[in-house]
Amino acid sequence: MARVLNFSAGPSQLPLEVLEKAAAEMTDYGNTGTSVMEMSHRSKAFEGILHKSKDDLRKLMNIPENYDILYMQGGASTQFAAVPLNLLGDKDAADYTDTGTWADKALKEAKKYCNVNVVASSKAETYNHIPDLDKSKFNPNAAYFHFTTNNTIFGTKWNKLPETGNVPLVTDMSSCILSEPIDVSKYGLIYAGAQKNIGPAGLVVVIIRKDLLELSKEKAKTMTPTMLRYDICAENDSMYNTPPTYSIYIAGLVFEHLLKLGGLEEMKKRNVAKANLLYGFLDNSKMFKATVRPQDRSLMNVPFVTGNEELDDKCVKAATAAGMINLKGHRSVGGLRASIYNAMDLAGVQTLVNFLEKFEKENS
Ligand code: PMP
Repeated sequence: MARVLNFSAGPSQLPLEVLEKAAAEMTDYGNTGTSVMEMSHRSKAFEGILHKSKDDLRKLMNIPENYDILYMQGGASTQFAAVPLNLLGDKDAADYTDTGTWADKALKEAKKYCNVNVVASSKAETYNHIPDLDKSKFNPNAAYFHFTTNNTIFGTKWNKLPETGNVPLVTDMSSCILSEPIDVSKYGLIYAGAQKNIGPAGLVVVIIRKDLLELSKEKAKTMTPTMLRYDICAENDSMYNTPPTYSIYIAGLVFEHLLKLGGLEEMKKRNVAKANLLYGFLDNSKMFKATVRPQDRSLMNVPFVTGNEELDDKCVKAATAAGMINLKGHRSVGGLRASIYNAMDLAGVQTLVNFLEKFEKENS
C-alpha cells in the first residue's frame, strides 16, 4: 500500500528518508553484520551512534556548553515526577501553569511532592488560549516555573516566554521541539517525549542546565528512583542501564536529516508556510472554524470544528477514505485536528486543504 498522509498527534509521521535509511541498515549496520537493535550498548558502534546523535542535537538547537543532553525513558509523563523530585532542592513549592491536559497532569503529579502554585489557567474556556500572567501571583520562593510550550490537544502555544527572574523555567516541549529555533539559555530544563518531532515513543530528551544537574546531585529527594536522577543519568552518559538503543538511533537519523535540510531556521520557514496555508483556509471558510485565537495558535497542532458533530464525523471518514488519517479531534475539543509536525510537508497540507475545500463545496 502507498504511504498515507498521517496527521496523528503522536506517534506521528517520520521523514521517509529516515525510514528508508533505517530499513537499508536494518540487518547490517555499518558493516557490523548486526542490526542496531542487536548490538551491545557498550560497543564502539553504538557509542558512535549515541555521541553523534547528541552532537547533532546540540548543533541543531545551538545548545550551550553549560547544558547537558540526557536520554531518558518512560515518556514525557515520567518527567512530570522527575522534575520535582530532582529540582526542588531545599524548597517546597513550585509554580505551574494550567494550559491543557498535559499541563494539568504535570501539576497533579508535582502535587505529590510539593506545594503547587497554579499561576494561571485557561481550563474554564476549554483551554482555547494561553492565559495572561499576573506576576503578583508568582511565588518568589518557587523552585522552578513549569509550563507546557505547545499544548498538543488544544493547539495553543506560548509565543512569549514567562519572565520569572531567577526562578528557572522548566518546560514540556514534547509537541514543538525542533519545529523552530529557540534560545536554550533562557531555560533551566527542557524535556520532550520523542514521538512527534524526534522518533519512537518512550524515549525522552532532557536538556538541563548544569547547575540544576548539581542541584539534583546534592539535593534530589532521597526517595527518587535511581533511574529518574538527572545527575546519575548524566554521569553515566545516559547509559546507567541499557538505554533504548534503537530509539536513540532513529532520533539520531532524524537530527542528521534536519541538519541536512538546513536546520531549525529552515524548519521554521516550512512550518510557518504550512500553518499559514491551513489557518488561512480555515479563517476564510464558512464551514470550518479554528478553535484557537490567532496570537496563541500552534504551528504543530491545528484543531478545527464545523459546529456539527455529524458533519465533523463525516469529514473525518471521507478524509480517511482519501488517504488522510488521524484527523479526528481529541474528545475534549471534538471536531478535527491536523497535526502537522516537521515530517509533514507543504504538499501534504495542500492536499488536506484541497480536500477540505471540496468537502465544504459538496456539503453546504
Ligand atoms: N506532554 C505533551 C505536550 C504531550 O503531547 C504528551 C503526549 N501526547 C505528553 C506530555 C505525554 O507523553 P508520553 O505519552 O510520552 O508520556
